[in-house]
Amino acid sequence: MNKTELRACIKQKKKEYSSEELAHLSATICREVEQHPLFKKAKIVLLYHALPDEVQTQELIHRWHDKKLILLPVVVGNELEIRCYQGNHNLHTGAFRIQEPEGAAFTEFSRIDLAIIPGVAFDKQNNRLGRGKGYYDRLLSRLRSHHIHTIGLAYDFQKVESIPYEPHDIPMNEVL
Ligand code: ADP
Ligand code: MG
Repeated sequence: MNKTELRACIKQKKKEYSSEELAHLSATICREVEQHPLFKKAKIVLLYHALPDEVQTQELIHRWHDKKLILLPVVVGNELEIRCYQGNHNLHTGAFRIQEPEGAAFTEFSRIDLAIIPGVAFDKQNNRLGRGKGYYDRLLSRLRSHHIHTIGLAYDFQKVESIPYEPHDIPMNEVL
């Protein structure tokens, strides 16, 4: 399957699950994140504020933001800017209906201990399929230049045998 076909296939599979089931599966994945040694150790974590079809991370953000510095991406033109999460009062609906923090850009990439990344699908080599606009590919190339460990989050039905990848696609270090 090419990337477009794979995206359509995952969208179909997702329809077999109720939002309650997905919330339950998300909670299980979030507990795995919390038990991960790199998450436990991390002081600064790049997370994402999930859209309805992504592994839900809101609880993770709320549970940890007073103990760790939580960073969230913000769509600015063709790039993902990184900003500090400072509480829900500071979130606004941005491009693609993503909840995004206000404030200055966080630019000290070398201080990020861990990056948690959404995806449409991941394969056995930890290749990542996104929504087709390459936003995370561009961010991941910046994260990689700072050797930041990346963890993709996926429901079981988002794990596939193989994803066609191009030179600009950057695999995850691991997928939970
Ligand atoms: P996605 O990763 O969202 O599934 P693709 O991998 O198909 O989507 O990438 C979409 C487009 O994003 C590519 O055709 C490419 O033009 C652009 N792109 C991806 N990474 C980069 C990059 N590092 N620099 C510039 N353009 C990029
Ligand atoms: Mg890509």
